[in-house]
Amino acid sequence: MKLLIASGNAKKVVELRRLVAQAGLSLDVLGLSDVPAYDEPAETGDTFEANALIKARAGVEVTGLPTLADDSGIEVDVLNKMPGVRSARWAGPGSSDADNLELLLRQITDVEPARRRGRFVCAMALVRPDGTEEVLRRTMEGVVIDAPRGTNGFGYDPIFVTDGHSVTNAELSADDKDAVSHRGQAVRAMLPLLARLEEQS
Ligand code: IMP
Repeated sequence: MKLLIASGNAKKVVELRRLVAQAGLSLDVLGLSDVPAYDEPAETGDTFEANALIKARAGVEVTGLPTLADDSGIEVDVLNKMPGVRSARWAGPGSSDADNLELLLRQITDVEPARRRGRFVCAMALVRPDGTEEVLRRTMEGVVIDAPRGTNGFGYDPIFVTDGHSVTNAELSADDKDAVSHRGQAVRAMLPLLARLEEQS
């Protein structure tokens, strides 16, 4: 049984392949580079779940394969849960991770440490060729600090300290981040559904 990961991010495909293998599943995990190219749909949803479903539905429609897709971002409570679904383009179209992070820091410059709470969110959707759909959400709670630290990870990792840790996400190893991250948790929660997919094949 083949499973498409509707993500252009090669790291996500590698990570998922590893987790699927570790779970003893024999699904053949494909990335977008393994299927004929198609135009990825615009992420027009207002929620992480809506956007994950948009991406997964497009994968099934084009390839006929069961498709997994995720959508993620950071919510900051004092900013009314923004950047949210706009995390990747917070400083405008085409903005870099550094631009987005700097804008977020400027927006909360005067906010005291106790009020800098937020979370990373990951919605993960599985859409099957018969049209049935599953979507789930996992979060990673913590605080936004006032200056970047660390060079691992990506996006807002250098300014986020997860609860129970004293270092930023960008100072954690990839394995340590996966163990607690929104995306790591979401992938692990999906594994039983993927096992069922394999049984049905
Ligand atoms: P996407 O899920 O690839 O669309 O990512 C959305 C955006 O959210 C990214 O460009 C990052 O800015 C941010 N983001 C999502 N997950 C993480 C994370 O684990 N660390 C840091 N930033 C993240």
